[in-house]
Amino acid sequence: MAYELLDKHHRLIWNCQSCSTCQRGPQNVFGPTGPTPPRICPSYDVYRRLTYSAQGRLLAAKAIMNGELELSEDFTESLFECTLCGACGPERMTRAGCCMLREQPRIFRDFRAELAKAGVGPTEPYKKIAKSIEDTGNRFGFAPDKSKRTKWAEGMDVSDKADLVYFVGCVASYRRKEIAQSTVKILEKSGTPFAIIGDDEKCCGNPLVSSGLYDEFETIAKQNVEAINNTGAKKVMVSCACCYDVLARRYPEVVGDLGFEVVHSSVVFADLLEAGKIKPEKSVSGKLTYQDPCHLTRLEVNEGTHVEEPRKIINSIPDVQFTEMEGNGMYTWCCGRNPVETPGLAKNSADRRIEDAEAAGADTIVTSCSFCDWSISKALRDNKGSMKSTDISVLLADSLDL
Ligand code: SF4
Ligand code: SF4
Repeated sequence: MAYELLDKHHRLIWNCQSCSTCQRGPQNVFGPTGPTPPRICPSYDVYRRLTYSAQGRLLAAKAIMNGELELSEDFTESLFECTLCGACGPERMTRAGCCMLREQPRIFRDFRAELAKAGVGPTEPYKKIAKSIEDTGNRFGFAPDKSKRTKWAEGMDVSDKADLVYFVGCVASYRRKEIAQSTVKILEKSGTPFAIIGDDEKCCGNPLVSSGLYDEFETIAKQNVEAINNTGAKKVMVSCACCYDVLARRYPEVVGDLGFEVVHSSVVFADLLEAGKIKPEKSVSGKLTYQDPCHLTRLEVNEGTHVEEPRKIINSIPDVQFTEMEGNGMYTWCCGRNPVETPGLAKNSADRRIEDAEAAGADTIVTSCSFCDWSISKALRDNKGSMKSTDISVLLADSLDL
């Protein structure tokens, strides 16, 4: 039987050497001197089973393509208990030099799409979120007539037409509104004209493309691109690493030329600092560390992308105390990503990062992704510890006294 989506990766899938280093690695960035045992894969870190590692998933794909196993529900859970963080890819993570060209997340998405086509995927939580997006346009299922997407902007003067458009995303619209509000205040303070899409903005579609629901993803991608183009945008700014991944990389795959550029807010803020349009004057308390979001610094990027800008912002704050965690930039550890879809995996992964922050002597984790902030904040609330989490936009707005 032909598996069109998996077959595209035939050569790469056969490339896997089954060397096992993507499970926890011989000497990866988190060990052996790190605060916790050596680790690479958030999924293997919880389950400690081959089928919950990149190697196991690739072996399963191979067996299915060879006709030795059938595509069945047996694979669904292990395939979906993966954050698509890409840590199994970079050579320095695996030391032995993984030969998969960092393509594992793309292969796993396509594997999930094969499961969806065969009617044995996605898992129930992913299905529920897909239904919420279809019914309400947001991943949380808030009915648009009862809870408007733009409620966070009430009392703020925001335009609906400008060259720069802020795509807010579901988490900052509904769960971490302070990210959206701080972002807008910073743009206003710098005198940068901007617009938002308003209630026509829908979920970026990340849960759909991540669960292999490609037709549904294409529909929402087209709706969002049309809504963005109606604003006259030349540049679209996002404050979420998942939105960035989807808008900048996945939309062109299904829509073609978008007609606008996609940038992350950390880059816009760093440029505003450089141009002297904003100047942090208020110090912030505590010792900060920074969580690099996988989708900004590791997936389909060259080393160094989106690494300098957030640090430039943090270090522009007067008298700031900043410390690095083990594993940063491209070699970061995933925040856990999906507290709703995969709660156990997300909690374990976020807890590991909190341990890393504690080991670095920090008391606040700063990030530039509303999903990282949401996942880590949720774990912190559950743990009732003293560590704090914040987004770079909130930190910067505080230091600008906004
Ligand atoms: S590190 Fe790469 S080559 Fe080795 S088992 Fe994992 S995916 Fe395969
Ligand atoms: S993408 Fe992340 S969670 Fe998935 S197998 Fe690779 S390292 Fe593990």
